[in-house]
Amino acid sequence: MQKRILIVEDEAPIRDMVAMALGKADMRVDQAGDAQQAQIALTEHRPDLILLDWMLPGISGLELARRWRREDLSRDIPIIMLTARGEEMDRVHGLEAGVDDYVTKPFSTRELIARIQAVLRRSQPDQGTGILEQGGLRIDGAAHRVFAGDQPVAIGPTEYRLLQFFMANPERVYSRTQLLDRVWGGSVYVEERTVDVHIRRLRKTLEPWQLDGMVQTVRGAGYRFSTRIA
Ligand code: CA
Repeated sequence: MQKRILIVEDEAPIRDMVAMALGKADMRVDQAGDAQQAQIALTEHRPDLILLDWMLPGISGLELARRWRREDLSRDIPIIMLTARGEEMDRVHGLEAGVDDYVTKPFSTRELIARIQAVLRRSQPDQGTGILEQGGLRIDGAAHRVFAGDQPVAIGPTEYRLLQFFMANPERVYSRTQLLDRVWGGSVYVEERTVDVHIRRLRKTLEPWQLDGMVQTVRGAGYRFSTRIA
């Protein structure tokens, strides 16, 4: 099925270049020049992924990402942030705001497409459609939903895959490299510290139910999901 990508970027030449490249890669592209247009585009046609420029007039891309992560309509849509070189320091803030990956300008359209495909791959519920239950948490793979007891848990796409992997493989320690390989699909673009950020986000997601202690740090080794106290 053709993927629908929304690009939010105020610089028209970049928008056009990306739209053309993605069109050639058989993706359908919607364009927005600012936050307001983006909101309208998002409501009209739900995209499979959003390319979001960091620097936009008015509200920043970062703030927009935070807002979208809070709303039901957009919570599950993967976001790739487009940043300029000097903004790299803020990557971690972006990851914490719910961004799934970054592409630094100037980028090649080949790299951009590779990243889009990697993020789309890992945001799909392809790790199984069964039910997984561990320590008060339940994943319904078919519905792509997580429950704490009977309450639905709002979770981002990467955290979902991470949790699903952990719950399918409990009580085992995985290094960052192993997690990148198994959960991120060995994307060469993702750095190891990205794992730490998503682990933090996963814990924050589980915190309201006091279930965050199941995501455990094993010093010098990596991470483990366990229903036993660390
Ligand atoms: Ca811009």
